[in-house]
Amino acid sequence: MTDSPRSGSHESETRSSEEGMLASLVAIVRFTSELRRYYLGVIVCALVTAGAGLATPFLIGHATDTIVDAVNSGSGVGVLPTLAMLALAILVMELVSTVMHNLGGYTGDVLSNRIRALLSTRYLDKLLRLPQDWFDSEMTGSIVSRLNRSITEVSNFMKSMSNTFFSMLLQTVAVLVISAIYYWPLAVLLAVVFPVYVWLTGLTSRKWQRLEADKNHHIDSAGGRFAEVVGQIRVVRSFVRERHELHTFTDHFERTHDTTREQSRHWHTMDVLRRGVLNVVFAAMYLLIFWRTLEGEFSVGQMVLLIQLITMARTPVEMMSWVLDTAQRAVAGSRDYFRVMREVEVPTPDGMPELPARPEDAPVLEFDDVRFGYGDGPDVLTDVTFDVRPGERVALVSESGGGKTTLVNLLLGLYPLRSGHIRIDGIDIAAMPHDELRRRVSIVFQDASLFSDTVGENIRYGLPDASQDEVALAARRANAGEFVERLDGGYDALIGERGLKLSGGQKQRISVARAMLKDASVLVLDEATSALDTRSERAVQEGLEELMAGRTSLVIAHRLSTIATVDRIVTLKEGHVDEIGTPAELAKTGGVYGELLALQRRGEDSYLNAYQT
Ligand code: ADP
Ligand code: MG
Repeated sequence: MTDSPRSGSHESETRSSEEGMLASLVAIVRFTSELRRYYLGVIVCALVTAGAGLATPFLIGHATDTIVDAVNSGSGVGVLPTLAMLALAILVMELVSTVMHNLGGYTGDVLSNRIRALLSTRYLDKLLRLPQDWFDSEMTGSIVSRLNRSITEVSNFMKSMSNTFFSMLLQTVAVLVISAIYYWPLAVLLAVVFPVYVWLTGLTSRKWQRLEADKNHHIDSAGGRFAEVVGQIRVVRSFVRERHELHTFTDHFERTHDTTREQSRHWHTMDVLRRGVLNVVFAAMYLLIFWRTLEGEFSVGQMVLLIQLITMARTPVEMMSWVLDTAQRAVAGSRDYFRVMREVEVPTPDGMPELPARPEDAPVLEFDDVRFGYGDGPDVLTDVTFDVRPGERVALVSESGGGKTTLVNLLLGLYPLRSGHIRIDGIDIAAMPHDELRRRVSIVFQDASLFSDTVGENIRYGLPDASQDEVALAARRANAGEFVERLDGGYDALIGERGLKLSGGQKQRISVARAMLKDASVLVLDEATSALDTRSERAVQEGLEELMAGRTSLVIAHRLSTIATVDRIVTLKEGHVDEIGTPAELAKTGGVYGELLALQRRGEDSYLNAYQT
């Protein structure tokens, strides 16, 4: 995805932010509708909290009138039992309110946590279905940062909403209704002050949202770079770029400082204005109440009641700016979230109840007039046609950038073809569900790409149900058994981050074991030993030979000696298949392979990559 906060589409989305706020929140609630029990719990608690909290002003109002009457009539302490009952009632109602408030808070905490878990899980689920080119243009750290930020903001909002704000809002509505019953101008003033407040907040909202998007862009970029720096710390160190990286990182935050300052300045300036308006309106309401009391319209008790009610409504109005602030963040977060959730997934042909068996004479793997290019770019491959027959070992040779890895990507169904067909076991992969297709291909990549998990789990990655014996057998055949068994913990030893450090060759032998265990129709080796030094390469090569034995294989290798032993070679040149033939045949033609041989004759132990890079 290439959308930056400055891009056109983002602008137009920001513009519709105000009307989109409610819609965004509704979208989140609907998206998490299986949590309706919790939403309901929060609502019930808020209703009871609000209701019980409203009792106090009435009880105090009643007490005031009782006292005033007693004082006027001279009956004095005779009303004490009544007052004691009222005090007790206040105590009970306040206790109910407190308990329900906390029960609501508890439910809200659980709810927001569930929301976080649900949104995160669905996000990963979505990412796992997105097309490969989406990942090609996103920084890993940036994806992670965006996920964390947007989900945190959504769940924070839901939390504060359910913990405090929702019950306050209910109370305010009740106050509005009650004051309308007593004296309608009060209700009108109260009803007006809310929208004015929201409108004044909305004035800054558009600018605020733009600044927020800009800030988030920097935060996500910083997060992305951070992950890269940590992941490639050896490169950073060897090129002495620590200071530069630190600078770049700091710079992203420097820019967020400016944005945050501007956001904050805007916000607080508007807050002074908003609260100014609020205070004027409230002062007017108090004055109205005093005046009507003097006129004899209200008793002193009613005056006390109304003043308490109005004061109660003041907090939610004041909180509006804070709530809107949190809500806006949540809306921005949910936008980012749903933008990813709306990305088009890789269409996978579904349901293939009975896959036909491979016809006797069909090749295991077949490229038929394949044309392909990345995104809107030029064709990388054109008219690529060749096949790999059962048990055959075919090598793919080209210059670096000639499209060998691209062919592997296509064979995995990672990108759609522009035209042509790829068939595995005689079935067009376009008609095969992706997991079915990928079960039939076993790959050893250039870098071992292991997970921070035990050695055993890494080997078992493609066949989770494999027994310990099967794992050990695969490891031994991949020439990894010996060193794994010597490890502290053996197959249970942890690899990676906080675990064991393995050499490149050892890691690669584990990934060979992983491919060995998967035992698919086609084996693909994409420069499986090119990242290794000569000694570890030899150890891995032995494992690979064992892996390829009797298997249909497509081999991309950087070393000529590996290629010399294959059944056939396919050479690619400028995106076309240049030649196909046995190593002996191609040695004579002077094509890509012939050139390589010539190069080798001149050099000592010449590698293909000397030619390729
Ligand atoms: P090889 O594996 O033979 O070295 P590749 O298949 O990796 O070559 O690359 C073939 C061409 O496709 C190169 O020009 C490369 O720049 C381009 N290419 C590879 N991957 C991508 C990608 N994800 N997006 C756009 N272009 C790509
Ligand atoms: Mg490659």
